[in-house]
Amino acid sequence: MTSSHNHGSTAQTAAHIAQVERYAAHNYHPLPVVLSHGEGAWVTDVEGRRYLDCLSGYSALNFGHGHPRLLARAQEQLARLTLTSRAFHNDQLGPFAEALAALTGKDMILPMNTGAEAVETALKVSRRWGYRVKGVPENEANIVVMEGNFHGRTTTIVSFSDDKVARDDYGPYTPGFRTVTYGDSQALREAVDDFTVAVLLEPVQGEGGVVIPPEGYLRDVRAICDEAGALMVADEIQSGLARTGRTFACEHEEVVPDVYVLGKALGGGLYPVSAIATNHEILEVITPGSHGSTFGGNPLAAAIGHEVVTMLAEGEFQRRSTHLGHLLTECLQPLLGHGDGTGLSEVRVRGLWAGLDIEPGGPSGRVVSERLMAHGVLAKDTHGSTIRIAPPLVVTEDEVRLLVDAVAEALAGP
Ligand SMILES: *Cc1c(COP(=O)(O)O)cnc(C)c1O
Repeated sequence: MTSSHNHGSTAQTAAHIAQVERYAAHNYHPLPVVLSHGEGAWVTDVEGRRYLDCLSGYSALNFGHGHPRLLARAQEQLARLTLTSRAFHNDQLGPFAEALAALTGKDMILPMNTGAEAVETALKVSRRWGYRVKGVPENEANIVVMEGNFHGRTTTIVSFSDDKVARDDYGPYTPGFRTVTYGDSQALREAVDDFTVAVLLEPVQGEGGVVIPPEGYLRDVRAICDEAGALMVADEIQSGLARTGRTFACEHEEVVPDVYVLGKALGGGLYPVSAIATNHEILEVITPGSHGSTFGGNPLAAAIGHEVVTMLAEGEFQRRSTHLGHLLTECLQPLLGHGDGTGLSEVRVRGLWAGLDIEPGGPSGRVVSERLMAHGVLAKDTHGSTIRIAPPLVVTEDEVRLLVDAVAEALAGP
């Protein structure tokens, strides 16, 4: 955190923030830090202060900032061909699609850009499959979703969000969704019927605060979907691609969904790349002109996505996440439950991903995030009193200890 030459001042930080507040919509409430460089798990602000990135772009940066393999592949492709539109073939989409199909164990993929677009794609495919394959009468399809979900920001997706801030005054809302309690198998069993085409869920709820469902729940969802003849759609945009120690979080219960929804880390932290992966008998309902995207499957995206998939196929990131996750769990234990508002009331960890609930009477999540920042750790609060910890999977053991020490200090006081 020492300052070296050529760096700005607190006045420059303030000026950058004022400019953003003046000219960009206030749709976020960022911590007061202005970043200008990143390498691996570390970022540097305009004043030359270094921080351990424990948010990782909501898990888009699983491989860290500027991973050399990803940078090299992207730079090579940038200079060669970046965008063709899908009106023509490009030489990168085929290899990427084949590799991602192999990684997911599915027949085919449909590439998009952002996570929300991939979720929308899964919803459209599910509905079409429901009408054309399952035989649901026109406009009668329903999709079951979970309380506390986060699937993105489109008008349809916020229609089935139960987060007031994300949803209020964006109506009229898209019909056709039913909400059940996350983790409650019986509630799901009661919600599905002959017209249910899909059950959409996050195998771990990320924005919800790293909420891990009870053991057996994902297997129950699989069985309920099978009985109801509905598609199990797993939104693994945040939980997937090694974050939880497995390629997909569904693997923790040896469950294979019908549709994987992927994004975030699929773009290696360089570029938005998303996709759904599913089998031929489901994806064949998509015909030319019935869905698309100008940028989806572009050669730059495909080249980066392909390198990401190649790195994941080697298994190193999954192993690191598992190993470092055990260390993180161990280090966090002493911060649990003094009952006096100076500790954590609950810690949920899956791989290198943790949700830390601050004890009632303790500082707010925002205050803890600001104190963490002062200790050189960047993390973000969610739902008022939860801190989410998700460092890039390239962090070292010492850096995991460093971040837990910072949490302990942040809880103890300014
Ligand atoms: C981030 C996220 C999304 C939305 O992705 P965007 O790229 O922001 O549109 C959807 N689902 C989950 C589980 C996410 O974490």
